[in-house]
Amino acid sequence: MTTGAPESGSPVEELLDLVRGLRAQLEWQRASFAFGMSGGEVVSEPEEAAPPSVVEEPPAPRPVAPRAPASLASTGPGAVTATAPLQVPTDPAERRRALEVLAETVRGCERCALHAGRKQTVFARGTGSSGVCFVGEGPGADEDAQGFPFVGAAGQLLDRMIAAMGLARDEVYVCNIVKCRPPRNRKPEPAEMEACRPYLAEQLELVAPRVIVALGATAVQGLLGTSEGITRLRGTWKLYRGRIPVMPTFHPAYLLRTPAAKREVWLDLQAVLRHLGLPVPTR
Ligand code: SF4
Repeated sequence: MTTGAPESGSPVEELLDLVRGLRAQLEWQRASFAFGMSGGEVVSEPEEAAPPSVVEEPPAPRPVAPRAPASLASTGPGAVTATAPLQVPTDPAERRRALEVLAETVRGCERCALHAGRKQTVFARGTGSSGVCFVGEGPGADEDAQGFPFVGAAGQLLDRMIAAMGLARDEVYVCNIVKCRPPRNRKPEPAEMEACRPYLAEQLELVAPRVIVALGATAVQGLLGTSEGITRLRGTWKLYRGRIPVMPTFHPAYLLRTPAAKREVWLDLQAVLRHLGLPVPTR
């Protein structure tokens, strides 16, 4: 009995393999173009387990618990159950004003030791009107000097990623887990992330993104409370506080060191666009 499938090793099967290979190469070149790089780079294997090649749709949000006194101090981002939204203004102008007030509060913050080494706090950039929020780790030297997140080399790559998605730079909201630069650009300590967490939580409530893109392992840890490796997590939808879909992906600084990983990041960003019902640019 014949199955209709070409026999293994047959000329037809070889031709199909060739077509599949050409198609994969074409998709990779498109992603390469989108991120402003040559398409000839070789995709290396990740250090951890292979990330998923297919990005699934985000999980359905868990039912929101009855409104409780939403204490930021008691409801961590790693909480398993859904948390009630904070009381935030419904009027967009009032929300913007509330964000300004919060930024002012952050400017005077001395909750953790990071305040001692900062030139200034780094709160956020962008409006978030697209529904997309990128969350990174913390400010570096350029950000500390300029007062805005992602303005250095990694920020320029993030800008190209945003442009590749077909979005304007100002349409996305960009912020970090901690608002002050850690010395020597080290990873923030858990206590520092914990001290700064209420600011991020309030920011996200006020901006109300439809999707959060977590850039790197520290961002994932700060948002979701998991220390699982980013290579394992990337491309798999999670939920922030049981309500907002989170797409973990690699940090742009990692992409500068490992350009081959741009292919995986492009897959993740494409999944974000699909989730938002936005067109997925092919070039
Ligand atoms: Fe305050 Fe956050 Fe800066 Fe620590 S990192 S001093 S908690 S604003």
